[in-house]
Amino acid sequence: MPKPSYQPETLAVHAGTVRSQFNEHSEALFLTSSFVFDSAAQAAARFIGEEPGNIYSRFTNPTVTMFEERLAALEGAEQCVATASGMSAILACGMGLLKSGDHIVASRSIFGATVNLFGTIFKRFGVETTFVSASEVSEWAAAVRPNTRLFFLETPSNPLTEISDIAAVAAVAKKCGALLAVDNCFCTPILQRPLELGADIIIHSATKYIDGQGRALGGAVLGSKKVMEPIYQFLRTAGPTLSAFNAWIFLKGMETLKLRMEAHSANALAVALWLQAQPNVVRVFYPGLPSHPQHRLAMQQQKAGGGIVSFEVKGGREAAWRVIDNTQLVSITANLGDTKTTLTHPATTTHARITPEARAAAGITEGLLRVAVGLEAVSDIQHDLRRGL
Ligand SMILES: *Cc1c(COP(=O)(O)O)cnc(C)c1O
Repeated sequence: MPKPSYQPETLAVHAGTVRSQFNEHSEALFLTSSFVFDSAAQAAARFIGEEPGNIYSRFTNPTVTMFEERLAALEGAEQCVATASGMSAILACGMGLLKSGDHIVASRSIFGATVNLFGTIFKRFGVETTFVSASEVSEWAAAVRPNTRLFFLETPSNPLTEISDIAAVAAVAKKCGALLAVDNCFCTPILQRPLELGADIIIHSATKYIDGQGRALGGAVLGSKKVMEPIYQFLRTAGPTLSAFNAWIFLKGMETLKLRMEAHSANALAVALWLQAQPNVVRVFYPGLPSHPQHRLAMQQQKAGGGIVSFEVKGGREAAWRVIDNTQLVSITANLGDTKTTLTHPATTTHARITPEARAAAGITEGLLRVAVGLEAVSDIQHDLRRGL
């Protein structure tokens, strides 16, 4: 097991690796639902937790454990619980930590399915959520109630790349005894380490950059042993478990995570700078641009701007769709965090189900496009976007 003092790129390649009796060099994929015991006594000791070891892959699998240990090392977390998707990570976090009568304060600028999970499903179980501005810390403090248990944010936000000040929101959470969860999907631990800034919980959709090549769904929740215990118990009982096969894909994905995040960020900055100079582009949203209103905070909190760039074109929906429909290289899809560049029109896809008023309030205009910049040559991405511009 490598020392925690190793650099992130070293941890990403080595942390969590456990070899079997065959001494394989690459991490083994254990496709087995259960594990065999030497004796009845050993089975009993495993089940009551007296003896560590694998039991059943709903809650213990060596490949999944390797993934959990590697991601925990990268985030500097005591414990990681892997889940079947990013959404099931958020579900496990809420089901583990909250009960009927509790209250959540969440950023308004979080993933659409998370808004639905909190505002519709958790609400049915008596957990209420107040949605506040991602960047106005005073709104977080004002929303606190005596029963507030959880703060939840995502930074940079999707698609407008709004930055939440993690340390400032963490201070408000601490004061009222709530836990702060940060969805770190866009930055990954390579660009941003929320626990060091005072967050209590990290959420990942491993589906995005951790895989990095658009192959598999998965997620994770990370935090201290104390915070993670009820979340692990929920997973063990309810079973939104990561498959060993997907864990193996993510283990291999993490080995190139630093190289990829640096390349995504460099490409995204180049595309953002170029977009800013296009006559038909009204505005570009990217934390790495000096023109971003929170550029300084972003650069304190993140090592680079990440791969997501949004921009608004003149001419509303018609002009935005023209850019999309004139591409030949980039993929028209709402997924992100892939080596392949993807392009989407948030107003009619990811944010189509909210009311036009709510969309306008959130700044999702008809001319807005979001590009998740991949690893192709910048000149080829520019050429593809230029056609419709
Ligand atoms: C995609 C995404 C999720 C949900 O992850 P799934 O793996 O699709 O369930 C959560 N948060 C953010 C920021 C995402 O981009």
